[in-house]
Amino acid sequence: MAAADRIQKLREEIAYHNHRYYTLDAPEISDATYDKLMNELISLEQANPALVTPDSPTQRVGGAPLEKFTKVTHRQAMLSLGNVFDDAELTEFHERVAEKLGADVEYVCEPKMDGLAIELIYENGRFVQGSTRGDGTIGEDVTANLRTLRNLPLELKGKTLPKLLEVRGEVFIRKADFVKMNQQREAAGEPTFVNPRNCAAGSLRQLDPKLTAQRPLSVYLYEVGVLDGVEFEGHVEKLKWLEAAGLPVNPRRYEAKGLEGVREAYQKLLADRHALPYEIDGLVVKVASEDGRLRLGQVSKSPRWAVAYKFPPEEVETLVEKIDVQVGRTGALTPVAFLKPVFVGGVTVSRATLHNEDEVARKDVREGDWVFLRRAGDVIPEVVKVIEARRSGAEKKFEMPKQCPVCGAKVERAEGGAIARCTGDACPAQLAGGIRHAATRTALDIDGLGDKLVEQLILHGLVKRVADLYALTAEKLMELERLGEKSAQNLVEAIARSKQTTLRRFIYALGIPQVGEATAKALAEHFMAVEPLLGASREQLQAVKDVGPEVAREIHEFFADAKNRDAVLALVAAGVVAAPPEKTAGGPFTGKTIVITGTLSKMSRDEAKEQIERRGGKVSGSISKKTDFLVAGEDAGSKLTKAKELGVKVLDEAQFSALL
Ligand SMILES: [Zn+2]
Repeated sequence: MAAADRIQKLREEIAYHNHRYYTLDAPEISDATYDKLMNELISLEQANPALVTPDSPTQRVGGAPLEKFTKVTHRQAMLSLGNVFDDAELTEFHERVAEKLGADVEYVCEPKMDGLAIELIYENGRFVQGSTRGDGTIGEDVTANLRTLRNLPLELKGKTLPKLLEVRGEVFIRKADFVKMNQQREAAGEPTFVNPRNCAAGSLRQLDPKLTAQRPLSVYLYEVGVLDGVEFEGHVEKLKWLEAAGLPVNPRRYEAKGLEGVREAYQKLLADRHALPYEIDGLVVKVASEDGRLRLGQVSKSPRWAVAYKFPPEEVETLVEKIDVQVGRTGALTPVAFLKPVFVGGVTVSRATLHNEDEVARKDVREGDWVFLRRAGDVIPEVVKVIEARRSGAEKKFEMPKQCPVCGAKVERAEGGAIARCTGDACPAQLAGGIRHAATRTALDIDGLGDKLVEQLILHGLVKRVADLYALTAEKLMELERLGEKSAQNLVEAIARSKQTTLRRFIYALGIPQVGEATAKALAEHFMAVEPLLGASREQLQAVKDVGPEVAREIHEFFADAKNRDAVLALVAAGVVAAPPEKTAGGPFTGKTIVITGTLSKMSRDEAKEQIERRGGKVSGSISKKTDFLVAGEDAGSKLTKAKELGVKVLDEAQFSALL
C-alpha cells in the first residue's frame, strides 16, 4: 500500500533529521522543510488512522496529565561524580587512579552537560520507563514526559535486542532553542525562564506531558547501568554500542592517555565552550576500561573511576543601580535590574530581568548590591548571586509595588501563581504591550509601528484598543511629534495591508495568555473561523491538538471577558479579514459524500456536518450508491440497513472521531 510505504519513509526521514539536529547538531534541512515533512505525515496518518503507531513522531505530543509522579527505585544507584576545580585537584585524582592502573591509564573525557540526569529503561528494545535521578536511589517516573523528546528513540535498533537495558544520560535544552523559546514566551505574555538548566528541569517535571512536548528538550546518553547479555571492555565500545542501538550519544568525546591527555582535552573543550550548542560546566573524566573501573570501585555515593573537572565560572561582578518593574501586555509586572554597564560574554550588559517577585526574594537581590552576572545560554543576562561580603548596609530591599507604576491600579497576584499583575482596565502599559504584540511580524505584521509611536498614540488618546489603529489617518498621525507626511502615509498603508490576514495570525495577535504561535495555528486549524472559537467550551478547546486543561482555561477565561470579546468583534467590524487555513488536501473526507444518522454522543449532527465540511467533504441527507460513508450513531435505523445493502462503508462514532 502506497500510503503505508510513504508513512514509513517519512518516519524514517523525520527520525533522521531529529538525529541530525538534536544529537549531532548538524541539521541538513530548515525548520520549514522539517515542518513540511511532519505535516505530510500528520495528514497521511489522519487519512489512514489504522497506520498510526505509538512510536510515530506525530505521537510525541504528550498524553493525559498526571495527578502526581510515582516513585521509581533505581535498580542500581545513580552515583554522582566528585568534583575537582583545578589542576592540583585533578592531579590528586589521577594519582589515586594511577596507583592501581598505572600512569598511562586510558581515560575518556566528555563535556559535562548542564542539565538534568535521567535514567531510561528499555525492555526487549522498547522504551518502557524513564525517571529522574532523585536522590540517586529513588527518582520520579517521568516516562510520559520523556516520550515527547524528539531524539529519544522509543524502539532500539538492532537484530538482537537486549531483554533489559538501563541507560543513563542528561536532559538539556540547546542554547538556540532556549533563546527562541524565551522570545516566544515573552511574546505570548508568559513568564520567561531563568536559564536552560532550570527550564529543562522544570519541563521534565510537568504533570501535563503536553506542556513538556512544547519545550525543546534534548537528551544525550553516556552510561549504562544494567545491560543483559552484552559486555563491554571499555567505555568507547559502550558508547558505540549505544549509538548503534539508535540512542543519542554526544559525538564530542576525547580519548586521553594519562594526566597529560586529560589536560589537553580540558584545554580543547574550554576553548570551544562558547561555540558549543549547549551549556556545559566542565569536563567529565572517566577511566576507559571496565576492568579498571571494577578495580577502583566507589566511595559512598561517588565512583573512584570518574570525576567532574569543573570550568571556572564565566561571571563578572557588577552593581545593581536600581530595580524597576515593567508592565507587560498581560499586566504582568516584571522586576528588572538596571546595572552598572559591564562587558560579559562579548557584549555590554546594562540590565537583566529578575523574572518575578519570588526570584528576587530567592536571590535576595537589593538595590545597591554587587552581584555576579553571567549570560544564560550565552545570551540572556542572568544575575547569579549577590556578593554579600560587599554589602554596606545601605542596600534597599525590593518590594513589588501594590499599585501599577503606570496606571495606579491595584496589583494582584493569583494564589499559587508566580506573577503579580496590574488589574487596571485601561492601563496604558498593557495597551502599549498589546498593540506592539498585535503589530509584530508573526501577528498582524504592521511595519513602522515603533515603541515610541505606540506610546504617543496612547498618550493622545488616538488608540484605546488594537481595532482603533484602523481608524487612523495620515492627517491625525501628522499631528503627532516628529512624524512626517511620508512616514504617516506609509504607516496608514501598512495598517490597511494588515486587514487581509490569516486566522492563525489573527488569533495570535489577540494576545491570549499562553497562546503562542503554535497554539494559535492549532486553534485556527481546528475552529477554522473566529466565531466558533469565541464560543468554544473548555471541553471543545481541550479537543484541540496541544491544548491541555490549563491553556483551555486561559482561552476560555479570555473570551469570557466582555472587553476581550468586544475587542475581537471591533477588529472584525474594522474590516480585518482572517482567512482560515487551507483545507488539508487528501484528508479522509475530501471530496467525499457522507450521510449522518442516529445520535452522536460527543457532538450534535450540525457540529459533525460542520467538521466534515471544513475538511472538504459533503454531507447529504439520503443514502445512495454515491455515498462514501455513513456515520452511524446510537439507534441508527433504516439508513444503516440501506447502507449495508448498498455496501456503503459504515463508521461508528469512535471511528468517525478518529478520522476527524
Ligand atoms: Zn497598569
